[in-house]
Amino acid sequence: MDITVIFLWALFAVLGACFGSFFNVLIYRMPRNLSLVKPGSHCPNCKHKIAIWHNIPILGWLILGGRCANCKESIPIKYPIVEFLGMMLGFLSAVLAEGDLIKCIILFWLIVTLIPIFAIDFKYLLLPDTITIGGIVFGFAVSFWSIGWLNSLIGIAVCGGGLFLFSLICSKILKKEAMGFGDVKLFAGFGAIMGAELAGTSLIIGALLALAVIVPYRLLTKKDMKSPLPFGPFLGLAAPISYMLGNDILDLLYFYLL
Ligand SMILES: [Zn+2]
Repeated sequence: MDITVIFLWALFAVLGACFGSFFNVLIYRMPRNLSLVKPGSHCPNCKHKIAIWHNIPILGWLILGGRCANCKESIPIKYPIVEFLGMMLGFLSAVLAEGDLIKCIILFWLIVTLIPIFAIDFKYLLLPDTITIGGIVFGFAVSFWSIGWLNSLIGIAVCGGGLFLFSLICSKILKKEAMGFGDVKLFAGFGAIMGAELAGTSLIIGALLALAVIVPYRLLTKKDMKSPLPFGPFLGLAAPISYMLGNDILDLLYFYLL
C-alpha cells in the first residue's frame, strides 16, 4: 500500500471530523438565524465558554464524559455522532478518489456537505448559503485544477440559470413556489464543480431518487401530495454519484439515443 494513499485517508478523515464539528454549529444556528461565528462555542445551559481542547471533534466529548465541564449538564450524543459521521464520510471520499488529490477534494466537498443538507433541508426546507453559495465558490476555485475556469463559469450559468427558469415556469403553472432558491444555488454549485453536463446528469438522477422515495412515502403515510418536499437531499446525493459515474451514464445514454 502506497504511504501517500494512507496519508490521504487519515488526512481527509480528520478533516471530515472538523467539518462535522462546524456542521454541528451550522445545523443548530442557521435555521435559528444565529451568527455562525459569534459567540464562540459555549454550553447552551450555563453559557460557559468551551475550552479549545474540549472542542476537539469526538475526543472533546469523550474527555468530558458527555457533560459540560462547568455545570455538568449532559451534552447530547448527536454532536460526536455528527463529527464521527463527518470522519467516516471524509475517509470514504479519500478511498473513492484512489489517491487522486483533486478528485479527493471534490468528492470530499460533495459527500461531506450532505450532512447539513440532509439535517437542515428535511426539517426546515432550507439550504444554508454556506453550503450552496459556498459550493459555487469552491467549484470555481477548484476548477483551475480540474475542468477549467471557463467550463466552471458555463456550468454556473447553465445550471443556475436553467433551473431558475424552470422553477419560474413551474411556479407560474402551479401558481405557487415550485422550488426553493436554495436548490437553484445548490445546483449552480454542482455546475461550477463538475461542469454543466455532469451536473445535468445529477439533476436527472436526483429527480429519479426523489420520485422513488417521496411517492411511496406519501402514499404510505397518506400525506398530501401537494405539500412542499425537500429536493436538496436528493439532488445532493445524486451529485457524487454523477461525479463518479456520470460519464459512464452519459455514454450509455448517447449510445442508445444516437
Ligand atoms: Zn454548562
